[in-house]
Amino acid sequence: MVKEALKIWMDLPADIRSKILRNVWCGQCMTAVTMCDYNAKFDGGVVVLRGFCSVCGHKVARVLEGCNEKPKKARKRALEYYIFNVWLYSDRDCSDDKRIIRKIRIPGTKSLYNFARIITKAFGFYFDHCFGFYDTLKDRKNCKKAYELFVDIGEEPTGGATKGVKKVKVSRAFENIGEKMIFLFDYGDGWQFNVKLEEIRNAENWDLKPVILKNIGEAPLQYPPCEDEIEENET
Ligand SMILES: [Zn+2]
Repeated sequence: MVKEALKIWMDLPADIRSKILRNVWCGQCMTAVTMCDYNAKFDGGVVVLRGFCSVCGHKVARVLEGCNEKPKKARKRALEYYIFNVWLYSDRDCSDDKRIIRKIRIPGTKSLYNFARIITKAFGFYFDHCFGFYDTLKDRKNCKKAYELFVDIGEEPTGGATKGVKKVKVSRAFENIGEKMIFLFDYGDGWQFNVKLEEIRNAENWDLKPVILKNIGEAPLQYPPCEDEIEENET
């Protein structure tokens, strides 16, 4: 804290600093004096210089107006785009050459809820079911990472350490390039989308809209006609 206050003080231009030091009220001398042997500290959120009157040695202090501990407006951080490959397998063996892929770009500041919406849109699905993001589905109770809409809507989550999807940002859920999660959409039909963070890129423009960058392969129908019905019609 002392260091930070000192830094704020030292960041002021030298002529301003010397002007301030030469213009400190001394209660003993009853006039403005020069302060010496001072230090800078935060006091009630502002930087205060405390030292001694160079004339009489009495304690003096000076508040630095406008030098707050926290700048009122946090500096706008550079916007980062998270580029994902999201895919479904079109065969049971899950072979890589039979992936149906959508490449999606989304700002890291967007929520997982927004991410889920663009994924379903990219595959032509309705955004009409509950969903979650999981690091694994093999042992759902022991997921290291799990985010479910259930948490946001006040329903019982399926695992222990489950977080919601509306407040968690993409950049929080995906920390490293190459990180994979499974996006489970519709707990009834159980669509499993594989989601992999491919790249983090600085945005050139301040464009917050998620974008589908690439479509590879034809997406399956979310609601294909029922097989039984087809068979019955054929016989
Ligand atoms: Zn004095």
